[in-house]
Amino acid sequence: MVNPDLLEILRCPACVREKEGHLKLVKDSWLICDDCGRKYPIVEDIPVMLISEGDKWQQTPEACLPIPPPHPE
Ligand SMILES: [Zn+2]
Repeated sequence: MVNPDLLEILRCPACVREKEGHLKLVKDSWLICDDCGRKYPIVEDIPVMLISEGDKWQQTPEACLPIPPPHPE
């Protein structure tokens, strides 16, 4: 489990300056940005909040996200 207090304060790094960048937790494995649809993997309970990671999964439908997420390269 990711710390709920941490999830509460996390925002999409690509959106946070201009929008809310609120993230939705999916299956304890992914954080999906409400604004841009970037998807950030949670690897070993650590959210990987890199824009480059979010970009990689932006076009992947929510239903097609791998569980558990692969480690970032
Ligand atoms: Zn975003």
